[in-house]
Amino acid sequence: MKKVRTRFAPSPTGYMHIGNLRTALYEYLIAKHENGDFLLRIEDTDQEREVEGAVDIIYDVINQTGLHYDEGPDKPGDCGPYIQSQRLPLYKEYADKLVDLGGAHYCFCKEEEVQAEKEGHDLSYRYVDPCRFISKEEARERIAKGEPYTVRQTIPATGTTSFDDEVYGHIEVENAQLDEGVLLKSDGYPTYNFANIVDDHLMGITHVVRGNEYLSSTPKYNLIYQAFGWDIPTYVHVPPVMKDEFHKLSKRNGDASFQDLREKGILSEAIINYIALLGWSPEGEQEIFSLDELVKEFSIDRISKSGSIFDINKLKWMNGVYLRNKTLEEFHELALPYYKDIKSNVDLMEISKALQPRVEMLADIPEMIDFIDAPYPFDASLYTHKKMKTNPENSLEALKWVVDEIDSVSDFTDDEAFSKFFVDLAAKHEVKNGRVMWPVRVALTYKAFTPGGAVEIAHIIGKEETMRRLNQAIEDLTKYLSEQ
Ligand code: GLU
Repeated sequence: MKKVRTRFAPSPTGYMHIGNLRTALYEYLIAKHENGDFLLRIEDTDQEREVEGAVDIIYDVINQTGLHYDEGPDKPGDCGPYIQSQRLPLYKEYADKLVDLGGAHYCFCKEEEVQAEKEGHDLSYRYVDPCRFISKEEARERIAKGEPYTVRQTIPATGTTSFDDEVYGHIEVENAQLDEGVLLKSDGYPTYNFANIVDDHLMGITHVVRGNEYLSSTPKYNLIYQAFGWDIPTYVHVPPVMKDEFHKLSKRNGDASFQDLREKGILSEAIINYIALLGWSPEGEQEIFSLDELVKEFSIDRISKSGSIFDINKLKWMNGVYLRNKTLEEFHELALPYYKDIKSNVDLMEISKALQPRVEMLADIPEMIDFIDAPYPFDASLYTHKKMKTNPENSLEALKWVVDEIDSVSDFTDDEAFSKFFVDLAAKHEVKNGRVMWPVRVALTYKAFTPGGAVEIAHIIGKEETMRRLNQAIEDLTKYLSEQ
């Protein structure tokens, strides 16, 4: 059997859409599952879309995700160059060949004329190019004289073309519905419709994996493969990544690119794991997969036909799992950049300890810990908690119990001893633990959500600050209650 070879063929737009990255991942997994080769090819023939530095972004994303390629622009194999704009002579050579083989013809129509002709017709309109009737000799003479030209695909007016897709099955279309599109533009640049075929063939690609928006053009590509007498690759068209039931995830939605997600502090391992499951389902119940595990498990026949909705909450949950699986030291390294606004003199490692079990997205950290420098303003309503059975009156009472006896806690960083202090105190007064711990948590932060409870917070801000806040809370509550 031929060695499996797949390719990731991004256009350098400066933006790595999650859908494109997922295609890259599936290409990687399909190749690696069979010990095959994964290639990187830069599709930069659309000069208008070109963005400075965009190729570096592609390299960077590949490095971060670990989707390392066997051949690519900076890792040449036998079928380079791997950047399309450096392959122009090849496209010209094969376009001329295709004309000789009857699969294309030279066209002298001006693009404006073709567009004008198409206008007023609906999308099913098929442009019949008058140039297809010009003889090859005449066309070559005109070209030799310097007349601008394109190479346009010649499609039989009758008959059907079919192909089999691994995901979407057997697809058959009437040739009459296929548009005779431009393959080589007048500036010598190929269109995607031509370059993808020449390159996939010359690079020995066995499995063409791409978004299902290419499904409808694939019959046209097959006509070209057939005209050249080339083997048709295995097609794996993948379903779109959706924002909701009806709309594709797009740049406008935010969260649509690898970079957006990384900026939120989502780990690249979590992104890879999550997008693997967007359109592919493993056999068992397992959801957390390393890249190596994915390589082992992946199978084309479990790719789904229908689009999958990108669920940021699921991704966040998964990221939390990845963060908890790190060692404390690793987590601390990752969290450090998010501590930069803390002004108080606190032990950052202690913050990491409190945060690691609770963070889902690293970018949430600053907001989770913004009580460290100062509590939020006094807010009596926070003391009322139905489940904890607290209200401002009994909170004041509990805070006084705490302050009266807190001297018995010698070490504020000993979480166990500190917890025991609260539990014993509650037992002594014959109330549930929450009746004591909730008011303390509120007094120390005045926030509805905090990483950890009274013990972790006191641990982080230290004894002196804890006492100051408790006393302040007693003062504020007393004043508040006297005014009621
Ligand atoms: N350059 C194309 C794109 O970015 C690649 C499609 C393909 O994989 O063939 O959409």
